[in-house]
Amino acid sequence: MHEFGLVISMIDLAEEAARKEGADVIEAIHVEIGALSGVVPEALEFAFGGARAGTMAATARLEVTYLPAIAYCATCQSEFELDNRFGIAMCPTCDTPSADLRQGREMHVSHLEVA
Ligand SMILES: [Zn+2]
Repeated sequence: MHEFGLVISMIDLAEEAARKEGADVIEAIHVEIGALSGVVPEALEFAFGGARAGTMAATARLEVTYLPAIAYCATCQSEFELDNRFGIAMCPTCDTPSADLRQGREMHVSHLEVA
């Protein structure tokens, strides 16, 4: 499962950051997931439940923020939100396709709560 590998590296990163701060326990991991990242939220939470055992994040919450996919239209000089999960960016104002994706493919840890 794709999400399992993601979660393992996410916890690794979180543990490293928590140790640097001299923390013993990770209370929460906040992640941002773009609408086009290909990550299935339910699968991510399921994988997290399995992967956190025995780590500093054993009792941590996973807080997920979903970021909409946003593209930029050069014709209108404005950003717009994609209304599909396929990455097809068609400007709703002028109907011009855009390849300039500004947000939506990310998947990263935004911050941690440690103790
Ligand atoms: Zn446009």
